[in-house]
Amino acid sequence: MEKITDFYGSMVFDDRIMKATLSEKVYKSLKRTIDRGTPLDISVANAVAAAMKDWAIELGATHYTHWFQPLTGLTAEKHDSFISPAPDGRVIMEFSGKELVKGEPDASSFPSGGLRATFEARGYTAWDPTSYAFIKDGTLYIPTAFCSYTGEALDKKVPLLRSMEAINKQALRILKLFGNAKVKSVKTSVGPEQEYFLVDRDMWKKRKDLIMTGRTLFGAMPPKGQEMDDHYFGSIKPRVAEYMADLDRELWKLGILAKTKHNEVAPAQHELAPIYDTTNIAADHNQLTMEIMQKVALRHNLVCLLHEKPFAGVNGSGKHNNWSISTDQGENLLSPGETPAENAQFLLFLAAVIKAVDDYQDLLRLSVATAGNDHRLGANEAPPAVISIFLGDELTAVLNAIETDTPYGGTKKEKMQLGVDVLPKFSKDTTDRNRTSPFAFTGNKFEFRMLGSSNSISCANIHLNAAVAEVLKQFADELESAKDFNSAMHDLIKRTIKKHKRIIFNGNGYDDEWIKEAEKRGLMNLKTTADAMPHICDKKNVDMLTAHGIFTEAEIFSRRDIMLENYIKTVNIEAVTMVDMARKEIIPSVAKFASDTASAVAVKKSVTEVACKYETKLVSELSVLIDEMDTATSELESAVSKLKNIADILEASEFVRDTMIAAMDKLRSAADKAETMTAEDYYPFPTYDKLLFGV
Ligand code: ADP
Ligand code: MG
Repeated sequence: MEKITDFYGSMVFDDRIMKATLSEKVYKSLKRTIDRGTPLDISVANAVAAAMKDWAIELGATHYTHWFQPLTGLTAEKHDSFISPAPDGRVIMEFSGKELVKGEPDASSFPSGGLRATFEARGYTAWDPTSYAFIKDGTLYIPTAFCSYTGEALDKKVPLLRSMEAINKQALRILKLFGNAKVKSVKTSVGPEQEYFLVDRDMWKKRKDLIMTGRTLFGAMPPKGQEMDDHYFGSIKPRVAEYMADLDRELWKLGILAKTKHNEVAPAQHELAPIYDTTNIAADHNQLTMEIMQKVALRHNLVCLLHEKPFAGVNGSGKHNNWSISTDQGENLLSPGETPAENAQFLLFLAAVIKAVDDYQDLLRLSVATAGNDHRLGANEAPPAVISIFLGDELTAVLNAIETDTPYGGTKKEKMQLGVDVLPKFSKDTTDRNRTSPFAFTGNKFEFRMLGSSNSISCANIHLNAAVAEVLKQFADELESAKDFNSAMHDLIKRTIKKHKRIIFNGNGYDDEWIKEAEKRGLMNLKTTADAMPHICDKKNVDMLTAHGIFTEAEIFSRRDIMLENYIKTVNIEAVTMVDMARKEIIPSVAKFASDTASAVAVKKSVTEVACKYETKLVSELSVLIDEMDTATSELESAVSKLKNIADILEASEFVRDTMIAAMDKLRSAADKAETMTAEDYYPFPTYDKLLFGV
């Protein structure tokens, strides 16, 4: 059998290949660009391009593409072949440094929220040498950033790289204050745990809703759902196991460290977690992972659903963003250290994260806001829409002792003195096993649990990195001018805890009491995308994001519009699909069943005296439901046409939230009831029990 170590990364132009194929001079110069961001010389680019091309052709590639992440949340690519005409009528394979470094996709149809002036429809893509090129389906993929000619970011990679740079800059200032001179750079890392559903492709094909929207818009709950809890970590069915093995192999070839796989809470739901990596690599890899999950599924006659809520009443899918900050010396800044100084440093970074999450609750919330994710957050299956931090009892007690100048723990007589005392050892188990917190400290990292399964991780990390960079900046400004560093730091941490402890909550996030309590504490509860998204344009957010060079003001406003448009379009497509399914499939089928039953009653009555109470009742109840469905469908149709006439994007998003979704719910509720009363043979598409237990 082929060994994993033999094919792992075989499709990646990684460090090993670079070393083997580039001259020492070129390799060193490229490494400097990768590690330190120094500009790349065109002669170096030419040499790298030539080596990449030879390597790719050797592995069967015929084309190359600049791969980028436009604001649609998907990835985009345009393939060019390497061929170039030779004078003798044949072709040669060419790929220059210029083609490697810069591309010009016709970008006019990607959303830009008005950023690109109409006369300048073309943006350009620029190679991101920090993320390795790879081969997929006979094409050399070059990870790139996507900008307009005036330099505005039209994608998710550019601001993500900017946010990493911001946190690097500010964290270095803090580390310097601790006398940490060796550290040259600080990077954030992410391990995203990805949840998904698998359904049978033949069944999937029969459901317009799954095809058009990625989720079921109709469907009554089956008699058995997830209440038995027998799926979570349960044994994996053979067909699913084969899929997972195939998926792992494909990911490994691309150098993606797929590590953990298991069944999730809901039937047909699973999870895949990679080993964590630098944030921009993790973001690229997660996009690739989502794409490959879907592609590999088809080979097994399965469909991989990445929607946040494919089935109403059944747990939805999220993506846990495990996040940490570490230095080029390998030190994790979110890990409690061994010495008093390390501990003080840890507590300072911890305090910065606490303040950042409190100050920018809205930015974190809106970074995960989509029509799909609105179904999960706050529905007692995923974190509430309110942001809070879980620290665990031990760490909370330490902070409490610092805040109140009281001794920590029962045994110590002395007060906790930062920079002098060593923190008690936290046992891993007392950190979060409570899975209800949106933002949990898990021993040496934070787990941001609000992301939806289909979200790009970029948005969440852009906002998180930016917010933390801002607080680190404030801390550095204050501490750099302090006379006595230790006491200034002690004072700063104390003040920060006092002011921001309202964001710390270690209890059950699914409890309704918490939502009331959170309101008392003044925390924001932004329930829907329509509520959350406009806050990106709040002055404090615009000021912060522009100050750190993450976004320009124009980029912020364009992003709000694009995300709201996405929300409106998504719900609109769902509404139109519902109307179509109700009119062409559900109502006719239920009506046919009712009328066949009515005919049967007529026939029966002609030969017997029996009243046929069951059939009569059934026919009359179904007739009522058919009328209800008809009315609800008409209402939904009228909502769809009203929406067309609302030009203002904020108004349109509120209309979707308040009117459209309510009309959809009304139609669904009548249809789901009718489904439970209609004979299976008559129902036009596979129902929940078949979809959920059919693989
Ligand atoms: P659980 O389901 O218990 O949260 P998993 O093993 O499914 O744990 O996922 C944990 C994720 O966190 C993995 O992707 C792992 O690589 C990642 N991770 C571990 N340590 C760090 C760290 N220091 N920084 C970022 N991510 C981390
Ligand atoms: Mg997990």
